[in-house]
Amino acid sequence: MKYSLKLAHLYGDLLNTYGDIGNILTLNYYAKQMDVQLEVDVISLNTPFKANEYDMFFFGGGQDYEQMIVSKDIQNKKQELSDFIEDGGPGLAICGGYQLLGKYYIGADGQKISGISALPHYTDSQDNNRFIGDITIKNEQSGDTYHGFENHNGVTYLGENEKALGTVINGHGNNGEDGGEGAIYNNVFCSYFHGPILARNGELAKKMLLIALERKYPKANLSQQKSLEIKPTY
Ligand code: GLN
Repeated sequence: MKYSLKLAHLYGDLLNTYGDIGNILTLNYYAKQMDVQLEVDVISLNTPFKANEYDMFFFGGGQDYEQMIVSKDIQNKKQELSDFIEDGGPGLAICGGYQLLGKYYIGADGQKISGISALPHYTDSQDNNRFIGDITIKNEQSGDTYHGFENHNGVTYLGENEKALGTVINGHGNNGEDGGEGAIYNNVFCSYFHGPILARNGELAKKMLLIALERKYPKANLSQQKSLEIKPTY
């Protein structure tokens, strides 16, 4: 393989709901077509995240109980993760992972679960309700339409320098009020989509890989990769 990328799968042993690991399988699928060897490390409790060892990260969703455990440990990774994100490192965070990158998440029991404030959003809870079902959004800038399945109690409100991943066409999205779903901050993409998001929205997987490649190989001419028509075969 011509290129190699290393991905940190944050708390892959704890936050692994709704087949979110399929996002990594999808990245691997496209990586192969782009001549990229993708290496994956699960970085979990009591293991440092070393920003200079990774080219991208994935942070999946989970239950409030696991989120509480992760919330304590991730404070030790806060600095390195924030530096990676501020430096333009690409990442994908889904549901519980999305919530924990922000300021805080109020769990269904009313307990406050601290995030790392790497991104400026915060998440409150809804009383006796979850947003569950198919969802479709459109990213006005790229024109891309994304499809997925949402299942969350949390209602998220974006902060400064964050924009939504897309505008809700049907479904609930971040909070059921402002019409936004997910977040984009620097090169980090966040969403409530399970499904998993990348398996159903291959363009986003390709975009993430290209960002990582351009960052690691600034001198390589990757324009050919950009025009590569990659279509999933499954
Ligand atoms: N526990 C969080 C919530 O209910 C996240 C759920 C998830 O990751 N699917 O909002």
